Amino acid sequence: MVATELLNADSGVIYDAIVIGAGVIGPAVATGLARKGKKVLIVERDWSMPDRIVGELLQPGGLRALRSLGMVQAINHIDAYPVTGYTVFYNGEHVDIPYPYKSSCPPVEKLKDLVKDGNDKVVEDETIHIKEYEEDERERGVAFVHGKFLNNLRSIVGQEKNITRLQGNCVEILRNAENEVVGAKVNIEGRGKVDFKAHLTIICDGIFSRFRRELDSQHVPSVSSSFVGMALKNAKNPAPMHGHVILGTNHMPVLVYQISPDETRILCAYNSPKLPTDIKSWLIKDVQPFLPESLRPSFDEALSDGKFRSMPNSYLPARQNDVTGLCVIGDALNMRHPLTGGGMTVGLNDVVLLIKNIGDLDFSDRETVLDELLGYHYERKNYDSVINVLSVALYSLFAADNDNLKKLQKGCFKYFQRGGDCVSVPVAFLSGVLPRPLLLTRVFSAVALYAVYLNIEERGFLGLPMALLEGIMILFTAAKVFTPFLYRELCS
Ligand SMILES: Cc1cc2nc3c(=O)[nH]c(=O)nc-3n(C[C@H](O)[C@H](O)[C@H](O)COP(=O)(O)OP(=O)(O)OC[C@H]3O[C@@H](n4cnc5c(N)ncnc54)[C@H](O)[C@@H]3O)c2cc1C
Repeated sequence: MVATELLNADSGVIYDAIVIGAGVIGPAVATGLARKGKKVLIVERDWSMPDRIVGELLQPGGLRALRSLGMVQAINHIDAYPVTGYTVFYNGEHVDIPYPYKSSCPPVEKLKDLVKDGNDKVVEDETIHIKEYEEDERERGVAFVHGKFLNNLRSIVGQEKNITRLQGNCVEILRNAENEVVGAKVNIEGRGKVDFKAHLTIICDGIFSRFRRELDSQHVPSVSSSFVGMALKNAKNPAPMHGHVILGTNHMPVLVYQISPDETRILCAYNSPKLPTDIKSWLIKDVQPFLPESLRPSFDEALSDGKFRSMPNSYLPARQNDVTGLCVIGDALNMRHPLTGGGMTVGLNDVVLLIKNIGDLDFSDRETVLDELLGYHYERKNYDSVINVLSVALYSLFAADNDNLKKLQKGCFKYFQRGGDCVSVPVAFLSGVLPRPLLLTRVFSAVALYAVYLNIEERGFLGLPMALLEGIMILFTAAKVFTPFLYRELCS
């Protein structure tokens, strides 16, 4: 039964903004704008708690964005689980990769009108401790049950007096005679299709976005792999409070991270958008033998429960928001491989930048808003391109399906084993605290050269001619998995 307050939004007023979608990004945009004094309508087709296997690990950069927006307490009271870094496993060896020191990161920006009364600080609860989050010398991330986090974001929205919430399925983006966007048509239970008008319509309808094409009919994602997920009960994680990345020469990458005191998520990569016909047999043959011993009992239990869930892994470079009255953001605008858990971090940082750029404008001046949106496209690139390119390049290495990629995979792991900057810089990219695409290029090149060096060492003196030939192929492969994505991210 839907609460009547979610069904009776007034269609007779012109809102400053209509936000379509209350996933991760919608509530953040709506709250930010409402705190800037804007009258906002937020439309979600289902306000009840979603049950999904996405968006469960928030990197430090995402947490920092929540602080900037004054929404960080969305991680409280949901049994969230602290994350202090990653551990990468490779053919039985492992390397720990702790998150960066706070002193090496820029200070968190507090957005005017949004941050108040300590809402940029976590509060104490059973699993999140103020001392650890506010005083630890290193940045922290956090993992949680996605639906509980969304519920918290949505309840923050519910507390904003300038926001009207509506439950309904948006079926059309409305345009005027000049083809500018002027609002949205929403199908509402008991009311039918109703038109709502706004100066700015913000689309955040997520991965399967229906309305991203309002920007351009060519704005569609490509899908080349999938994740199969299961929930592990009371798993014995080999590296508590770390995300686990399990790699090997003979299998696809596997991600493992604890999302509550008793639940751990496992995501197993499958290198095709089309899943195997017998998922259980595939998991038994191609995943189970490569897991750390301590995880196997909970994995076997989950296998016999047979609750497998899957998601496509999509890639979509952002496109400029150049339609008057329209702003597309979040996964609707831009997607990357979920391997590095960067989606929410990119989206939330986009929200911070958006609010900074347009939050104080008068939305009825649509040309000025459009001007700002045009510039915003370029301003977001440094931050977002690093996370996006890193995710697709690492996936190519970690899912290595040819000899050159396998050598790069090994080179990457051995590079991490060197420690020092070889760990602290890559993890700063992953965390979303080092928005420097050119430095990322340098580091990726260093990894490729290190892979060439290791190969020469392995071949020995007599194998030198062959190793040099292979070296060229390794460098060519590295360029092929990195450069096109960097180009698309920076130049599109
Ligand atoms: C397998 C997988 C794992 C991932 N893991 C992580 C992770 O660990 N960390 C991370 O940071 N990111 C992760 N991501 C990415 C992350 O989930 C997304 O970046 C994030 O959810 C994007 O938020 P969003 O608000 O744009 O979209 P969503 O969260 O998908 O929200 C979209 C909302 O719009 C609503 N909606 C859609 N259509 C309509 C309509 N017509 N009318 C009304 N409402 C509508 C939906 O109901 C939904 O609530 C993962 C992605 C995948 C595929």
